[in-house]
Amino acid sequence: MTALPSLRETLDAHGLMAKKSFGQHFLLDLNVTRKIVRLAGPFDGRAVIEVGPGPGGLTRALMESDAGRVILVEKDPRFIPLLSELDDGSGRLTIVEGDALHVQEAALVTGPTHLVSNLPYNVGTPLLIKWLTGPWRPHALTLMFQKEVAERIVAQPGQSAYGRLAVIAQTVAEARLAMHLPAAAFTPPPKVASAVVHLVPRSDVPEPSVLKRLEQVTAAAFGQRRKMLRSSLKSLGGADLCDRAGIDPDARAETVDPAGFVRLAEASIL
Ligand code: SAM
Repeated sequence: MTALPSLRETLDAHGLMAKKSFGQHFLLDLNVTRKIVRLAGPFDGRAVIEVGPGPGGLTRALMESDAGRVILVEKDPRFIPLLSELDDGSGRLTIVEGDALHVQEAALVTGPTHLVSNLPYNVGTPLLIKWLTGPWRPHALTLMFQKEVAERIVAQPGQSAYGRLAVIAQTVAEARLAMHLPAAAFTPPPKVASAVVHLVPRSDVPEPSVLKRLEQVTAAAFGQRRKMLRSSLKSLGGADLCDRAGIDPDARAETVDPAGFVRLAEASIL
C-alpha cells in the first residue's frame, strides 16, 4: 500500500473532479479512513462491501485490514480504472460498476458481510432502509451520513430528531453514533457536518409483514407528530388499536419507543 501515490496525486493523474450529481465528497486523509475501518472491524476474514468508493480512500484502509474480501460498488465509471490500481493481485478485491440501490448483494457475496461506506448523501437513507429491511441482511454496518441523518437514526423518544428512521433502524438493529467529522475533512467540503453510525442487526427481528406495517404506522403517526395517536392513527384503528397494543391513545408519536410501535404494528394486523 505504501507504494501507491497519494489520493490527491491519483485524482490529478486521472484528471478527476468531484461531481455534485453523484454526491461526491472525498476523504483523502488515510488517517481518517483507517480510523473508520478500525471502528468497523475487526472483520476476522469476513467480506466487506463498500458502496461508493470514489477515489478509494476507504478502500485502501479496507485492503490493509483483516477483511477476507473487499467488494466495491461504484456508480461513476470514471473511478473504475483508478480503483483497479488498488488490486494487489491477491484476489480479495472485486469491483462492480453499478447503482447500489439496484444491486443484489446476495449475488455478490456469501456468508456474513460488513458494509463500510462513506455514502452519497442523496441515497444514504434509502440504502439504509434497503439493508435493514430487505431480504439480504448484513453482519454489521458502519456508514457515514450527514450529521442530521445520523442523529435521526440514533435518536431516543422525546428528542426532536426522533421519528420514523429511529423507530425502523432501532427495531432491527442496535445503532450508535461512532464518530463526528467536520465538513472540512472532505474534498470538496459539503455544506453540512457528517457522522459515522455503527449498526449491528438484531437476531430477533419482527416478521417482514410486521416490518411493512411498521412503516405504515410510523408514517401515519409521525406524519402528524403533534396530534394524539387516537387521531393520527385513526385510519388504522385509532384508540381501539392503541388499547390493543397497550399504548395510551392520548400519547403523541414522539413519546412512544420502538417496541411500542412494533406492538401497534402487530395489533393492526391481528
Ligand atoms: N468513499 C469515497 C470517499 O470516502 O472518499 C467517496 C465518497 S462520496 C461521498 C460518494 C461516492 O458514492 C461517490 O464515489 C459516488 O460516485 C458514489 N455513488 C453515488 N451514488 C451511488 C449509487 N447509487 N451507487 C453506488 N455508488 C454511488
